[in-house]
Amino acid sequence: MRVFNNTIELVAELNTARNRGISIGFVPTMGALHQGHLSLINEASKENDIVVVSIFVNPTQFNNSDDLRKYPRNLEKDTELLKNTKCSLVFAPSEKDIYPDENSKNSNYQLGKITEVLEGKFRPGHFDGVATVVSRLFEIVKPSKAYFGQKDLQQFLIINRLNSLYLKHLNIELVKCPIIREADGLAMSSRNLLLDKEKRKSAAIISQTLYKALEIYRKFSVTNLRKWVIESINKDTNLKVEYFELVNDPDLDEILEWDQNKRIVACVAVFAGEIRLIDNVYFN
Ligand code: AMP
Repeated sequence: MRVFNNTIELVAELNTARNRGISIGFVPTMGALHQGHLSLINEASKENDIVVVSIFVNPTQFNNSDDLRKYPRNLEKDTELLKNTKCSLVFAPSEKDIYPDENSKNSNYQLGKITEVLEGKFRPGHFDGVATVVSRLFEIVKPSKAYFGQKDLQQFLIINRLNSLYLKHLNIELVKCPIIREADGLAMSSRNLLLDKEKRKSAAIISQTLYKALEIYRKFSVTNLRKWVIESINKDTNLKVEYFELVNDPDLDEILEWDQNKRIVACVAVFAGEIRLIDNVYFN
C-alpha cells in the first residue's frame, strides 16, 4: 500500500494504471476509519483491480467551525488500519492541494430540492461543500466506480445527481453500500468517538427506535408515527431529535401517507449532548 500526499504524483500513478487497463475503485472518506469505511473498501476490492482511499477532512462541508475543529483526525492510525485491507493507494492531500485558491472552494452546481431538505435544512451550505470536494476528487482519481455508504443516504442521492448532471464525462459508476452497525445497533460513525460513556449508551436508542418503528408503522398514521419516534428518542434526557422525516428515495419528498409503491425511508438526526448523529432505515 502506498500513501500519496500530493495530487501530481497520484495522478501520474493512476494514469499509468489506467493506460494498462487497470480498473480503479474509489472510496472517499474523512478518516477516523471504522468498519463502515472498511466495508466500502472490501466491496470496492471485489469489483476493481485496485482501490484508492482518500482521507481528507473537507472544511467546506462544515457549516459549524466547532464541529470542524473537533472532528477526529488520526492519519497514522488510519494508515496502519488500511495496511490490513485491500486498499492499494491512500490519498491524503493537504487543503492547498484540493483548494489551490479561495475561488476553488466554491462551485455552482444546481442540484435542486434534494439539497434543501433534511441535512440541507439544518446544515446550510453543507452539500455545496460535499459536491465541490467530490467533483474535485473524482476529477483527480477518475475511478471506474466510487463507493458510498447508505449511512449518508442524502449525500449519496445528491452525488448521484451531481454525477449524472455534471460529471458524465468521467463515466463513473456509483455504488451504495449498506450501513454497518455496532452490536447494539448504533450506526458506525467517526463521530461516535466523541461520545462519552453515558451518551454512547443512550445513542443506541436511535437505531433501536427506528427498527421498532419499522415493525409497527402500519398500525400508525404517518403523523402519529413521527410523533411516537420523536417522543421515544427524546425520552432519554441525553438525546434531542433535530429532525425525523419519512421521505421517498430518490426525490426525498415528504411522505404524507403509507404507499406500497414508494421507497420510503425514515431519516433522523439527533444530538447526543453536543454530538450530532444521523441514521436511516428503509421501510419497504
Ligand atoms: P465519512 O468519512 O464519514 O465522510 O464517510 C465516508 C464514507 O463512508 C461515506 O460514503 C459514508 O456514507 C460511509 N460510511 C460512514 N459510516 C458508515 C457506516 N456505518 N456504514 C457504511 N458506510 C458508512
